[in-house]
Amino acid sequence: MSFIELPHSSVQLNDVTVPGWAVGGSENLVRTNLAYEGERITVSGRMPVEMGGAMVLPAFIDMHTHLDKGHIWHRAPNSQGSFADALETVARDRIVNWSASDVRARMEFSLRCAYAYGTRAIRTHIDSIPPQDEITWPVFAEVREDWCQKIDLQGSCLVGIDSIDFDGPFQRTATLVAKYDGLLGLVAYPVADLRGRLRKFFSIADDHGLAVDFHADETLDRNTECLRAIAEVSLESGFDHSITVGHCCSLTTQDISRALDTLDIVAQAGIHVVSLPMCNLYLQDRRSGQTPRMRGITLIHEMQSRGINVSFASDNTRDPFFAYGDLDMMEVMREATRLGHLDHSDVDWSHAFLTNPAQACGFSIPSLSSGFPADFIIFKARNWNELLSRPQSDRVVIRAGKQITRALPDYCELDYLMENA
Ligand SMILES: [Zn+2]
Repeated sequence: MSFIELPHSSVQLNDVTVPGWAVGGSENLVRTNLAYEGERITVSGRMPVEMGGAMVLPAFIDMHTHLDKGHIWHRAPNSQGSFADALETVARDRIVNWSASDVRARMEFSLRCAYAYGTRAIRTHIDSIPPQDEITWPVFAEVREDWCQKIDLQGSCLVGIDSIDFDGPFQRTATLVAKYDGLLGLVAYPVADLRGRLRKFFSIADDHGLAVDFHADETLDRNTECLRAIAEVSLESGFDHSITVGHCCSLTTQDISRALDTLDIVAQAGIHVVSLPMCNLYLQDRRSGQTPRMRGITLIHEMQSRGINVSFASDNTRDPFFAYGDLDMMEVMREATRLGHLDHSDVDWSHAFLTNPAQACGFSIPSLSSGFPADFIIFKARNWNELLSRPQSDRVVIRAGKQITRALPDYCELDYLMENA
């Protein structure tokens, strides 16, 4: 239930609290008025509503998700909670169950959740080992078209560097990705000839004019340094499209001087980093009967201080890589703040959930200034402390100038797909 019902048009919200940067000001929170009419934010509105300092944030951007994997938990649970089990369980489920209609139903379910929570743009990875690529990409294109008024969608192919032939079937996958206006994605592992394979990957991306998005170093093994290899190879090759790398957990177990040296190269290469803390918490340092000590969240402060564009995102939802989650960026913000000590910091980390992912992905800029789309979220909280202390289940989401219905889809809607559980 929303904490307030707002008028339908030409509204002036008196006394709201917003990040200064969202109205062209300082990095601190500021109290102001916010008006909107039609689909846009305006200078003033006819219907005043006293808001008592309620916080407003631009609608969220979730730049790393897996819509095609989401909500398979009931039929494909991770038996041990490990990364290896996750890979194996998903592969088995994909081969047996991922028809176009199955993928489509679960994607739609996830998007309805994300929309209800106030997300307006999503990048999703798409498992693309043939023949799955030819099943999922057309479905993704249809879903993207169906949802284009509500959520701006980007797709990135997902294949393991160890399981593809760059001179064979991957060429066809890349052509398919280009046809569907996607990104070229890769899971980098410390394979033999890592750099040679990365060179080929960058070359194929360049041939098709595609931006790239990596999963890298989702492990606490300090010897795994795929991020470093990606940064060095991208610099060597002069690759000039956008590069994003997700996870980067192994930096946290490396000697700090080595890790910081890698970050200097990452900064030089202009790589965008996205941290996926909820998924990391689930998979990293899990050992049966033992309490986890190392939590996997990457070196976000050290990255930020070097000018690396750092974001946070959801990653998986109710699948073997992360058993929980619901594509709620407010949950990501709350968890990331606590896990990564984003508080007690001179940095305004709200950028990492809004402007930074927009910049990394090329989504439109989040803003609450006059003339921008009236796409924002209103919370019954007047400051960061009040915002981050509750789940904000009663938030108000305004999209294209209208308060949306925030009902979440019922899990039972997917029961018919879980039969072989
Ligand atoms: Zn991922």
